[in-house]
Amino acid sequence: MRTGQCLCGAVAYRAETADTVSVCYCKMCQRWASGVFMGVMTERFDVTEGADHLGVISSSDWAERGFCKMCGSNLFYRVPEPGYLSVAMGSLDDTSGLTPRVQYYVDKRPEGFALAAETKEMTEAECIAFFAPEEGDSHDQV
Ligand SMILES: [Zn+2]
Ligand SMILES: [Zn+2]
Repeated sequence: MRTGQCLCGAVAYRAETADTVSVCYCKMCQRWASGVFMGVMTERFDVTEGADHLGVISSSDWAERGFCKMCGSNLFYRVPEPGYLSVAMGSLDDTSGLTPRVQYYVDKRPEGFALAAETKEMTEAECIAFFAPEEGDSHDQV
């Protein structure tokens, strides 16, 4: 079980996480996280403090993103159906033992940006084919 919080501390949570990190360079993640979003998949996620300060915005037809309404920190990316939540890695109190596993939208990676770790890489087209095979190219982000 890991714990985490936003920058100002208004929202705190407890999460059971995987030990791998997914990195996304899609334009939505760039706007949201200033360059790259690093998420850690959770088995379980519970807000332990400041639920009133937790904002959730629908970022696409199928996904939503959680943030602190006080300080604006990114807290999670969630897909309600079928139901998974990737917690913002940087909001975790302790990130030891986490390893980058995959990079999404690598063809959208900002110039000069590179991860030192060797991971699986997926282009925008590969992400769309993988995540939204039935919806075609109407989905432009993960
Ligand atoms: Zn905050
Ligand atoms: Zn993304």
